[in-house]
Amino acid sequence: MLVAVALLAAAPAVAVPDAEIRAAAERIAPAVVTVRRALHAYPELSNREERTGRLVAERLRAQGLEVRYPVAKTGVVGILRGSRPGPVVGLRADIDALPIEETSDLSFRSQVKGVMHACGHDAHTAILLGAAEVLASLKARLPGTVVFLFQPAEEGAPEGEEGGAPLMVKEGALDDPKVEAVFGFHVGSWVSAGQAGFSDGPIFASSDRFRIEVAGKSVHGAQPHMGIDPVPIAAEMVQALQLIVSRQIDGRQPRVLTIGRIEGGTRFNIVADHVTMEGTLRTHDAAVRAEIKSRMARTVKGVAEAHGTTATLRFLDEGNPPVVNDAALARGVGIPALRRVFGEGAVRVEPQMVAEDFPFFGQKAPYFYFLLGTRNDAKGIASVNHTATFDVDEDALPLGVRAMATLAWEFLARPR
Ligand SMILES: [Zn+2]
Ligand SMILES: [Zn+2]
Repeated sequence: MLVAVALLAAAPAVAVPDAEIRAAAERIAPAVVTVRRALHAYPELSNREERTGRLVAERLRAQGLEVRYPVAKTGVVGILRGSRPGPVVGLRADIDALPIEETSDLSFRSQVKGVMHACGHDAHTAILLGAAEVLASLKARLPGTVVFLFQPAEEGAPEGEEGGAPLMVKEGALDDPKVEAVFGFHVGSWVSAGQAGFSDGPIFASSDRFRIEVAGKSVHGAQPHMGIDPVPIAAEMVQALQLIVSRQIDGRQPRVLTIGRIEGGTRFNIVADHVTMEGTLRTHDAAVRAEIKSRMARTVKGVAEAHGTTATLRFLDEGNPPVVNDAALARGVGIPALRRVFGEGAVRVEPQMVAEDFPFFGQKAPYFYFLLGTRNDAKGIASVNHTATFDVDEDALPLGVRAMATLAWEFLARPR
């Protein structure tokens, strides 16, 4: 009897049921497309995803999952407990849309004026609901627990509101049961349909939104010496900020600093009273990010002082950390799982300078994030995310379902 127990304990972990996952994903593929189109037609802005959240909660309940709703305002947490004991894994999808007017003529185009699923979060939501259905159908063999995280406000909560991944974490979405690893993804034109892009290190950048106010003293444009003209001071600041990224940071480190908005003055012959500038900072490394931020403060203060005025630099929120995959999780689980689904179509990609709030989940557990290819030039689907003609090749949706289900299973079943 003791021998039998010992043998049982040493038995190999439950293998990933690739064929069953594939068959289930293909069976529900039309339903996944229907859900994606329904979401696409009724997009909702960040922290306003009422209808989307309700739809997700209802569908998870119909699959027999435990559901917590609402979480982080309009988000949903679904818990699927497998019949076999094992660890806990989290799978995440973001659910919000963008303030963009859709210009395509798709039959399921946005019915909400000025709002559009231009980042593909409709596809993310439909895919994760599909993965929940696939894994629920295999629950009898599932060796552990899967926590489905449907997160609002990835694109940024309205000013003054909390939201997104940080609020999901704050409200304990990963705490009960305690999630041991999180997997997430993004659709887009970076990779072709049929492929998945991975990295075992950085894959997306950090992003910090900032505002600079330069104080001036308004006088007649003919007598600038009697006031303080903030326009040339702001111009010097723009140049000096570019010198930080080009001259003061190691050239091997990716970084971008963009001033996207500059505003000041009222009339051609009046010295402006103040100048406001806004911009974004992107890096792939937490230390580089911190270094540039502190040098920006020094530069803004120094340039202002040199011209006898003051200026303030303010980062408007806590910003997104860079998305840096846990190397061990990537090599041990993430990349092997993607190879099971995509074969040679799983390709290593260069990190992008776009950003995402997914790494906040990393405060609680290691994570792996990948790119699901949805570009298809032959079908004319090539617009980039955040444009009025963005679309995804729906033939990639079942691959996304398989990828998320396989990642979860691969993590739960790995020997430990
Ligand atoms: Zn986006
Ligand atoms: Zn997005």
